[in-house]
Amino acid sequence: MKSLLSTLVLLGAAGLVAAAPARQPNIVFIFSDDHAYQAISAYGDARKLLETPNIDRIGKGGVRFDRCLVTNSICGPARAVILTGKYSHLNGFPNNSNSTFDGAQPTFPKLLKKVGYQTAMVGKWHLGSDPTGFDFWQILQGQGIYYNPPMIKNGERVQMTGYVTDIITDTSLEWLQKRDKSRPFLLMCQHKAPHREWAPALRHLNADNDRVYAEPPTLFDDYAGRGIAEHDQDMTIEKTMNDRDVKFLPPAGISPAELKVWNEYYEPRNAKVRAANLQGKDLVRWRYQRYMHDYLATVRSVDESVGRVLDYLDQEGLADNTIVIYASDQGFYLGEHGWFDKRWIFEESVRTPFMVRWPGHTKAGTVNNDLVSNVDFAETFLEAAGVPVPADMQGRSLVATLNGQRPADWRTAFYYQYFEYPTPHHVRPHYGVVTDRYKLVRFYGTGEDYWELFDREKDPLELKSVYADPSYAATKSALERDLARLRTELKVPDEIPPRWLGNGGAGGGGKKKAKQAQKE
Ligand code: CA
Repeated sequence: MKSLLSTLVLLGAAGLVAAAPARQPNIVFIFSDDHAYQAISAYGDARKLLETPNIDRIGKGGVRFDRCLVTNSICGPARAVILTGKYSHLNGFPNNSNSTFDGAQPTFPKLLKKVGYQTAMVGKWHLGSDPTGFDFWQILQGQGIYYNPPMIKNGERVQMTGYVTDIITDTSLEWLQKRDKSRPFLLMCQHKAPHREWAPALRHLNADNDRVYAEPPTLFDDYAGRGIAEHDQDMTIEKTMNDRDVKFLPPAGISPAELKVWNEYYEPRNAKVRAANLQGKDLVRWRYQRYMHDYLATVRSVDESVGRVLDYLDQEGLADNTIVIYASDQGFYLGEHGWFDKRWIFEESVRTPFMVRWPGHTKAGTVNNDLVSNVDFAETFLEAAGVPVPADMQGRSLVATLNGQRPADWRTAFYYQYFEYPTPHHVRPHYGVVTDRYKLVRFYGTGEDYWELFDREKDPLELKSVYADPSYAATKSALERDLARLRTELKVPDEIPPRWLGNGGAGGGGKKKAKQAQKE
């Protein structure tokens, strides 16, 4: 394609081409952090947790992907996969604990910039090193905080005032307004919300009028039918959720004036629950309600942000030539299996929301069930922009899919691998293969390796491993073949360097553990 473009330019210079090449589309990549598909109304969760009319506009106007899987379900690694189009074992960012992104490696924003795109990155970056490949960047420091966050703008620290989602939206829109209107652009608008500790904007504190949320059927899961990893994790509402999570403590960075409004909402409710001295299941139930209130309130701010960006594109006449994407860095547990957080190959974690609107290409209201992945994003953006895809990227462009075609040789099996252990959430390292129906999983790296097999058709909640069931022998063999093939194709090393599991395995003390928890 590059040579084709240069040929066109040469021919054009010689006056031999009358028509200009097709306009390169703008790309608006709206990316949130830990946004469960269960908390997007377009995905139709049975609990009907909230309405997200603006995020839904993207799916209704384009394609809603129902099986978009991430390769490694945590924050930094997911970002590195998206930028590079490569799995963690090749892009050098396997975990949040001790990884630093090598910004010298090729990324899709760099390749877009090379062919004339203006590029901007605003919001949560979380990759340890400064962004590269962007004309403009303004990122949260590390994980970032919800209220009055310090940020780094093109290398300079800036203290921002206000609520993080609004700041990221304002900064994104300001950049769009000031851009060179003669060139195409890539905007990566990357929210902190709805990441832990789920601190809502003041305007959303009572948005649900103390509604009682339906509980997921597995809120009190006992993990029977599964192995030690599921029993041994540290991510339950019951045991892991802390005082800041449940808003017995106010969020970092909040100003005295903001705290006053905050306390007016939380204090009377907290006083009531403290007086009730809840225990056991009652306490879990209360925490779940508080969690849903807070988490969903932060999603409301993201939905408003999406609305503002879409409105801007409409007002400026940009919508027709702009690809708009909504995605999260992974899925998230909203009480299923008693959990919050992510990390697992299991559905709520591995599956991320993903919607794409591209007028003239996507058909409004399409729902796609193919196995697609965040490792496909880079190649998709490159092909859409007419940029050749580097041969060592490991995904596959979704442009044909967005155009309504289904490539006959589309993947039917997907490789997943998680590394970070034991902190912060004590989820054992595992890898596996995911198909339409099955998941074959191997837990590794702890000296207690073992396998599990799930049949999602018979067991959609993934409650019982059938690995030892002889009636699955043939299925198991087929999945093992898929797994071996994928590991070879994707160049997965047989031996994982211990540092890929993070710092936690090296016998870190309490202080170190606390620092890692912050980095999560
Ligand atoms: Ca995340």
